[in-house]
Amino acid sequence: MQHTYLQCISCDYKTDLLEERKFRCPDCGDLYDIKHDFEPLFKSTKMGFNALTLIFDERAKRSVFNPKNEATRSSGVWRFKELIMPYLDEKYIVTLGEGNVPIVRAGKHLSEWLGKDVEVWMILEGMTPTGSFKDFGGTVLMSVAKAAGIQAIACASTGDTSAMTAAYAAAAGIECAVILPKGFVTSVQLAQPLAHGAKIINLPGNFDDCMRVMQELVRDYGVYPANSLNPARIEGHQTTVFLTAQFFGWQLPDWFAVPVGNGSNCSSIGKALRLMESFGRGTISKILGCQSEAANPLAKSWAMVERGGQADPRDWKMAFRPIQVGETTATAARIGNPVSRDKVMREIFYTSGAMQIASERDLNEAVAVCGKDGYFVCPQTGIALAGTRNAIKRGWIKKDQKVVVVSTATGLKFTDSVAAGLQNNITDAKDCETSTVAKILRF
Ligand SMILES: [Zn+2]
Repeated sequence: MQHTYLQCISCDYKTDLLEERKFRCPDCGDLYDIKHDFEPLFKSTKMGFNALTLIFDERAKRSVFNPKNEATRSSGVWRFKELIMPYLDEKYIVTLGEGNVPIVRAGKHLSEWLGKDVEVWMILEGMTPTGSFKDFGGTVLMSVAKAAGIQAIACASTGDTSAMTAAYAAAAGIECAVILPKGFVTSVQLAQPLAHGAKIINLPGNFDDCMRVMQELVRDYGVYPANSLNPARIEGHQTTVFLTAQFFGWQLPDWFAVPVGNGSNCSSIGKALRLMESFGRGTISKILGCQSEAANPLAKSWAMVERGGQADPRDWKMAFRPIQVGETTATAARIGNPVSRDKVMREIFYTSGAMQIASERDLNEAVAVCGKDGYFVCPQTGIALAGTRNAIKRGWIKKDQKVVVVSTATGLKFTDSVAAGLQNNITDAKDCETSTVAKILRF
């Protein structure tokens, strides 16, 4: 893949995507971006971005009839292959049919809770093979790993990354190990990598401990990482923007609101927006990065230097400190020292976006409100919804603006925390008589 390469985000050092194993710049130690030179693609196909969008639209329509089982038609991620990994040979693609997720208008209860004058939509990225947005990145990561001839892969995880890595590694025929913080992932998130045959290591610490061990395994033992350190995932996560743009007739919303843990979705949304901008797609969306009170290292440091919803990147960099995380139902974003923080903040600043902190009460309330509309979303989605409500109240999101909230996982992964808050709605019947049930129902 000579027109796709890795480039250091700080010093412009370049290296080969398929040869790289450590994913840290040898000159300055910083992270990599994946870069594609789109010129050869456009030259060889004799088409530009507008012509490509017609192909993407055609593929979306034809996804119901796909006799050759082409990944560009079965997968809502590979539909946009020319933007995501244009030079990857299709024989390496590892797909589980991910990416064809619904984009829905906020229901009655959620609209009232948010404030009615703003047009809010949710992209339901929990409706994927492993139940979270991670599959968008996972299909690309595992395809690149296959092209690179990788035999074994590992990740540190708060739950969703391990499910994704285990599922796609199984599909690719690659060995997989996952490192989890003992007691801080839900039973479903533990069951998923087990079901897909991964080796599970429970660490007696938090996610930041898992990540440190993972990084040292990569550096000292040559382990191939599935964490967002590996930028192949970022390419797939761009799908959020492409699906949304396609849904709105290749127009972008005013805002994307996202929960921020390690920040892979923030980085990728920013990257995709800049790509759209480079193809002349007009004004790009702003990113609203949202964190919980319990795990808010980026939002807290941003709030310290923000004036009227704007901040200076240099001030933020001076203000940033990792934090010790507190307790929250939003365990998947319970991260005090995000590894991709510079990439996250680069995109917040580039899009003139903002950050918001969601209280524990608000984020749980948001999940409950969505439930009343028929959507069972995860607590991290609750963070983004509560952050959106705060930004509306503060006037940062303005009347009649369009906001797309990224719903990152299904609530089915977090049944324990949701059920715990709603125990009052359960009544134990004293016997199995119909009359007893009728009495409870007040008939
Ligand atoms: Zn560098």
